[in-house]
Amino acid sequence: MKCSKGENFSQGNLHRCGNIELSPASGILNNGQGLFEGLKAYRTDDGCLLLFRPEQNALRMKIGAERMCMPAPSVEQFVDAVKQTVIANKRWVPPPGKGSLYVRPLLMGTGPSLGAAPASEYTFLIYASPVGSYYKEGMKPTHLVVEDKLHRAFPAGTGAVKSITNYSPVFKAQNQAKTKGFSDILFLDAVNGKYIEEVSSCNIFIVKENVISTPETHGTILNGVTRRSIIDIARSFGYQVEERVIPVEDLLEADEVFCTGTAVVVNPVGSITYKGKRVEYKTGAEATSQKLYKTLTGIQTGVIEDKMGWVQPA
Ligand code: PMP
Repeated sequence: MKCSKGENFSQGNLHRCGNIELSPASGILNNGQGLFEGLKAYRTDDGCLLLFRPEQNALRMKIGAERMCMPAPSVEQFVDAVKQTVIANKRWVPPPGKGSLYVRPLLMGTGPSLGAAPASEYTFLIYASPVGSYYKEGMKPTHLVVEDKLHRAFPAGTGAVKSITNYSPVFKAQNQAKTKGFSDILFLDAVNGKYIEEVSSCNIFIVKENVISTPETHGTILNGVTRRSIIDIARSFGYQVEERVIPVEDLLEADEVFCTGTAVVVNPVGSITYKGKRVEYKTGAEATSQKLYKTLTGIQTGVIEDKMGWVQPA
């Protein structure tokens, strides 16, 4: 679906595209003017294909488009396009319990933009791929290291939107961490280097007795759809959930730590290493993260009653 600068996608038509052609001078290639989203479709036991809160991804793309000076599809157009994509690819949606169809909407400046200025034309497209678990080892505890030199986001920058340019700055820190045997990195805030922010593509929560805390999304952290859903589920279980500024030292006191995101869903963190000191956390069947994971995936796959009204058929 295409539209010109200053217009909207209301006249656009969705069609099968396969590979796309891009001008070498396109805004996406030269200025990184692009946003993406990620959501999953699950197959239920009775063959239905379920989507989880797709309008939240549509809204996030709209907010991101405003920040990146791009036109965005309406929420209805976005959700309808996601549904059409899932239905067109339904044979690729894995059987229940075997994974999901990952759906990747992309919005980008495809018209030429030689100067540092918004592109003259925009394209919205969606592709999809069947996926299993995010981490190769499956739902096993991950081992994080706190990154205190490289940062992924700065205040008033684009850290809170899903800009394509947010991801390659993460690779160097991620590669360094993996070389040392860690699964991923935990970023600190770029101003003080004191407060925890997020992992490279998921949000973080810490558990201390009955209190679950997650960093507030003050402009540098992506406000994950999974994050918001887990906050609601945890509150419905009676946990006290706080969105607050979290000093890195709080990691030393936590009973449990876990990550959330569309790809990882809810993943327990087995340890975090900060300034060479490794702290271990509770994981396993009794962990809070397990309870939250089971409830969230149960709702997403149609196994648990969706009292929140979060799922809808494709
Ligand atoms: N933070 C970052 C940087 C991400 O890329 C993602 C994945 N979209 C998340 C958090 C989690 O967001 P969501 O739960 O919406 O997938």
